[in-house]
Amino acid sequence: MRREALNFLICPNCGGQLALGSDALPAESDGQIMAGELMCTTCTSKFGIRDGVPVLLPANLASVKLETASRFAEEWTRWSDLRDYYEKEFFDWVAPLTPKDFKDQLVFEGGCGKGRHTAIVAGHGAKAIVSLDLGESAFVAFAHTRKFPNAHVVIGDLLHPPVRPVFDLAFSVGVLHHLPDPAAGFASLASRVRDGGRAAFWVYGYEGNEWITRYVDPIRKALTSRLPAWFLRLACIPPAIFLWAVIKLFYRPGPDGKGPHRLPYGDYFAAQYHYPFDEIHANVFDQLVTPVAHYLREDEVRPWMATDFRDAAVRSHRGYSWAGLGTVCRENGAAAESQR
Ligand SMILES: [Zn+2]
Repeated sequence: MRREALNFLICPNCGGQLALGSDALPAESDGQIMAGELMCTTCTSKFGIRDGVPVLLPANLASVKLETASRFAEEWTRWSDLRDYYEKEFFDWVAPLTPKDFKDQLVFEGGCGKGRHTAIVAGHGAKAIVSLDLGESAFVAFAHTRKFPNAHVVIGDLLHPPVRPVFDLAFSVGVLHHLPDPAAGFASLASRVRDGGRAAFWVYGYEGNEWITRYVDPIRKALTSRLPAWFLRLACIPPAIFLWAVIKLFYRPGPDGKGPHRLPYGDYFAAQYHYPFDEIHANVFDQLVTPVAHYLREDEVRPWMATDFRDAAVRSHRGYSWAGLGTVCRENGAAAESQR
């Protein structure tokens, strides 16, 4: 971690200011503090800095969340390179936000995985981005982003985010649906945004994914989420080969980049037409590895920004997922509260 991260970080237990212990060891080359201790100046909780990443987990963390995070970390520490097409995917997910919306902004990322989006946002000139993840993948994210002076990776729980409520923009892409309570996760993400700042999300939809909830989910819950990761990785090869062949045969994108309208997931699979096989395999593995995955209905997602937001817009992304963007406006929420 860089010393500047202390401008944004707080104690996850009480919200108090953190101070760096005298044993902190700066790396010789780039000023990152690779090991040491942080102490809360209010409640005296202590937190370690491990391999450059502050570990700011709250005292009472539910084990299911740690389990989900560690299942994903299996994958992210393995498929750990960052690829060109991640940038296009990211701006598709957070649209209508564009690179200029991140420039000179204080950005908070709820769930960063291996840091693919952290690197994109840092590279587009954010004033700072603080990226949170629950699991070991944060160490991969740190390795991917340590060259950026404006990127800060932290291990923490999104429901007890160890950051100040000062951010201009917060986003969570592909993460909230893996929390036990996605709505609470989004509320917690948005709580870290200053009044007038914006919050964005992208989650799996129920609509357009009925076959997954009907046929794949029972298998995931009963079997695949419990398999050893190495075995599941092997078991995913045949279905991934099948899917890869189907995409290559039937989902060549048209000149407009869109997929065949008559086939299911037309735009989604067309977007993956040029992906290498290991990315398709990673996506199949992703669907089957996690203990928790919610497929959210439009009427579950819309209320997330019903109060405390203005200019809120929820849109279907390619017919199988939901993306939302809104401006935080707490007076609205307070006025609605007082009218009740
Ligand atoms: Zn504290």
